[in-house]
Amino acid sequence: MGFGQQEINQQIQKYPLLKNITELEPVVWLNPNQKKMDQLSKMAVTKQDMEDAAKLWERFAPFLANVFPETSSSGGIIESPLRQIANMKKVLNDKYDANIQGNLFLKCDNELPIAGSIKARGGVYEVLYFAEGLAINAGLIQKGDDYTNFASEKMKKFFSQYCIGVGSTGNLGLSIGIISAKLGFDVSVYMSADAKQWKKDLLRKVGATVVEFEGDFGEAISAGRQQTLLNPMGYFVDDEDSKHLFLGYSVAALRLKKQLESQKIEVNEEHPLVVYLPCGVGGSPGGITFGLKQMFGDDVHCFFVEPTHSPAMLIGLLTGEKENVCVQDFRIDNLTEGDGLAVGRPSKFASSVCDQMISGIYTIEDNDLFKLLAQLADSEGIFVEPSAASGLLGPSKMAASNYTNLKNATHIVWATGGSLVPKEDMNSFYEKGKSL
Ligand SMILES: *Cc1c(COP(=O)(O)O)cnc(C)c1O
Repeated sequence: MGFGQQEINQQIQKYPLLKNITELEPVVWLNPNQKKMDQLSKMAVTKQDMEDAAKLWERFAPFLANVFPETSSSGGIIESPLRQIANMKKVLNDKYDANIQGNLFLKCDNELPIAGSIKARGGVYEVLYFAEGLAINAGLIQKGDDYTNFASEKMKKFFSQYCIGVGSTGNLGLSIGIISAKLGFDVSVYMSADAKQWKKDLLRKVGATVVEFEGDFGEAISAGRQQTLLNPMGYFVDDEDSKHLFLGYSVAALRLKKQLESQKIEVNEEHPLVVYLPCGVGGSPGGITFGLKQMFGDDVHCFFVEPTHSPAMLIGLLTGEKENVCVQDFRIDNLTEGDGLAVGRPSKFASSVCDQMISGIYTIEDNDLFKLLAQLADSEGIFVEPSAASGLLGPSKMAASNYTNLKNATHIVWATGGSLVPKEDMNSFYEKGKSL
């Protein structure tokens, strides 16, 4: 596997930024393939798909409110707050000489119920979608019925005939494991070597089977896919190519639009919305970008962030090879402490959509993740996991790149996870950030 040095050199000649990327330098890449909304070529998803996904969430809300008490106050809608982080903006301006114009917000998916991360959107959605299809086909429910029925013993017994599998570095496994077990499915999570012990423990506690792997995320996915599909009643949640995960994430955009309206935040040409999204395989940032583009068109600008050691989407889009290349091809080790971001190869589904829609990608060093985590904790009292802090450098990167007129911009940093991280682990992240 991997390219020979000659092939790498040829690619570098063609795409000079690859030199910096392979030397693990933090880079900013502006996407030359981004298209205006009226010039987009046809995609494998539509706005209607996203609206249908939102309706599915609504049908299941009474069920979710019932079985996950932490969602009852929101009526079973899994959503997170949008908070202004003016103190953190000041820290960024002081410590990073960032000169950030406009207002800075944090989209607090670190607080999402059920899974404590952005995976509560995609992962929970895909399992609900699968469950609904099975139940309708079996004549157990119709779309107008009371979905609290999904909590009945009869349903659980029905779902227990089916097995669900997923390969994960951790967070996706948590969301799939928790919702699948709740519905009664026989669920197995294939975990890569870098997955944290507490995630395995939690999954076993809710009744999921955890299968541990020596290899990285890509290998855990391949093994999981193979094992799951051996069973004729098996369903594999394929993070490397899933339309359903993508659509589950996209609904965040409809909700964000409402939150912006209720906070009286304008989005238009003079008031651009700039969003910074941590990227692993690209499903969550891709789905959200797709959704936001449907809502705000050319007035929203979406940037992805990847660790310098895992620039999977960046290499895929920069070379145009998408899911056909991985970071290891370029002798990059894919080792990062950003859970969920240690991904060597981008999703096929997500990369084809992102290619036309995203404004760019920047990469970040692991040390900065910890520093930003500690700075956010000190300035705002908000604790996120290391990957989720990666978007915080976005506004300063944009200020430096003259990308667009940001005078009246609203910057939204997507904080993708954190609330399930055990206190001791969070303390050690924080202490590490303080020491750097
Ligand atoms: C999974 C994850 C991401 C990235 O999502 P992808 O769909 O893999 O791109 C970002 N942050 C956290 C905390 C995650 O768990």
